[in-house]
Amino acid sequence: MVVVMKASSTNEQIEKVINKLRSFDLDIHLSQGTTRTIIGGVGDPKEKEMIMETIEVMDGVEKVVAIVNPYKLASREFKQEDTVIKIGDLCIGGNEIIVMAGPCAVENEQQIIETAEAVKRAGAKILRGGAFKPRTSPYSFQGLGEDGLKLLAKAREKTGLKIVTELMDLQHIKIVNEYSDIIQIGARNMQNFTLLKAVGKLQKPVLLKRGMSATVKELLMAAEYIMSEGNHQVILCERGIRTFEDATRNTLDLSIVPVIKEISHLPIIIDPSHATGKWNLVKPMTKAAIASGADGLIIEVHPNPLDAVSDGPQSLKFNNFNDLMNESRLVANAIGRNIA
Ligand code: PEP
Ligand code: MN
Repeated sequence: MVVVMKASSTNEQIEKVINKLRSFDLDIHLSQGTTRTIIGGVGDPKEKEMIMETIEVMDGVEKVVAIVNPYKLASREFKQEDTVIKIGDLCIGGNEIIVMAGPCAVENEQQIIETAEAVKRAGAKILRGGAFKPRTSPYSFQGLGEDGLKLLAKAREKTGLKIVTELMDLQHIKIVNEYSDIIQIGARNMQNFTLLKAVGKLQKPVLLKRGMSATVKELLMAAEYIMSEGNHQVILCERGIRTFEDATRNTLDLSIVPVIKEISHLPIIIDPSHATGKWNLVKPMTKAAIASGADGLIIEVHPNPLDAVSDGPQSLKFNNFNDLMNESRLVANAIGRNIA
């Protein structure tokens, strides 16, 4: 069960609730963040009701919710209304579909500034770009590191776009937090629980990408790791999963969108670039993603995909990204949503 304490509750009141729960032999997890919540195990159903009734009337308690799912804070049972994540004047999870776009990796100043200006002109609100890259081969380009973060900050200054960039390693958490507006946890790190707990202690939106072989439940449990540390600003991202199919880089599981909408209140966005691996499939899958109810997209765009140091084959040229945005607007409007 989840016990939500009032914002005005005192530490002493929290302590009393914890002690009471412990007296029922429940393991306790205290989540100190914007909302102070206490998460405890659930006993047998008859006892559960008695425990809930006891806790509900204690001083400082706002509400007690019984949740049988292993993901609790991420579940619809815990929170019925959709979570809308605010970044300045941007809202992710509201009526507007938010597009994040940019190169796979930050390569140099000209590349990132040119791309930022082009994606902004086309209607993107957030600039993506990796400074720390998770590459399959240790001999492939690993990213510019802190220099890449500085270039992203320069692009933000020039264009006003917000920045999303990947955090791969705990040792870079401070600088990635300093330069980014959203911290990306990549597919390969979806179950890096140390990293998840660490970003859970920040007050910064986290873009959590689905692991390439992760189930929906595993994705929500990864979100729960972040939320249970106090950070409830989690944006889920489907980026394709591994299947037998090799016509595409991964298989885009769009059915996850309505599945997530039913069982979780968190926003979900789609990455059609990594899902398909082919630039010519990005536009049709973007439109399908919007039709399915996704709250946003993250798309790879490069000034000259043939010269890209990573993921060139799935990166869009500026004019193709502009076409994608124009057609996406029509689909969004058809379902009563909008893209700026
Ligand atoms: C990326 O967004 O550049 C990336 C590496 O994505 P993923 O973690 O989904 O493979
Ligand atoms: Mn990439």
